[in-house]
Amino acid sequence: MIHSVKTKGLVLQRYDLGETDRIIVLYTQALGKIKAVAKGIRNPKSRKSGHLELGSLVNLVLSQGKTFYYIDSVTTDHYFRHITLPQIEALFHWLKLINSSSREGEINNDFFNLAVFGINASEEIEKKPWLTSLSEIELYSAIGYGLNTTNCVIGHEALKAEPAWLSVAQGGVICRDHIKNQPKSSALPISINALKVLRFLDSEGLKALPNIRLSDEVASELTDFASTQRHEIFSW
Ligand SMILES: [Zn+2]
Repeated sequence: MIHSVKTKGLVLQRYDLGETDRIIVLYTQALGKIKAVAKGIRNPKSRKSGHLELGSLVNLVLSQGKTFYYIDSVTTDHYFRHITLPQIEALFHWLKLINSSSREGEINNDFFNLAVFGINASEEIEKKPWLTSLSEIELYSAIGYGLNTTNCVIGHEALKAEPAWLSVAQGGVICRDHIKNQPKSSALPISINALKVLRFLDSEGLKALPNIRLSDEVASELTDFASTQRHEIFSW
């Protein structure tokens, strides 16, 4: 008996297979990351074509083969409107992050929701650039690189309301006293306001973020920190 699964999924990557087929890498709600074959999709008459655009959220009916899943039917649940170059760059960046941060066989509904959130954020990159940076920081936390932002990671004392340093390697904030014995190159200076945002993210989660307003300075600190994390975690 062929096992059939209905699920929502995000299109992360696509590559051609044979004459008319395509392999689609998806992050799905029910199965986590999978590779699925879309048979005949490159045939212009295919009903599947147009529903499997990069970054689309789709409703799938899948059947399980020996090596791959097969996409029996697909409809678009939500098509995100990435039109400008910054939006498209932010989308591709996010899809690459989701792909690099997930492994086939792991099912994680929170991660699925985070993946969808980040795609929404990439659509808003020009209006709210900090949303993508904070989504990225949240993603690293979801894969085990969470940050301690309440206590100094060296001395473990509660942090005072003063500028400090943020270290990816040490997994959190280092206070002004304890940074003296640390290699500064591995930590970024962080303002009180940027720290407040990270604490807010920690306690309220991403859902609370779309309504906040950040100064350009804080937004740029968070962007710098997210790219430092990415560089240390993925080396790109
Ligand atoms: Zn300290």
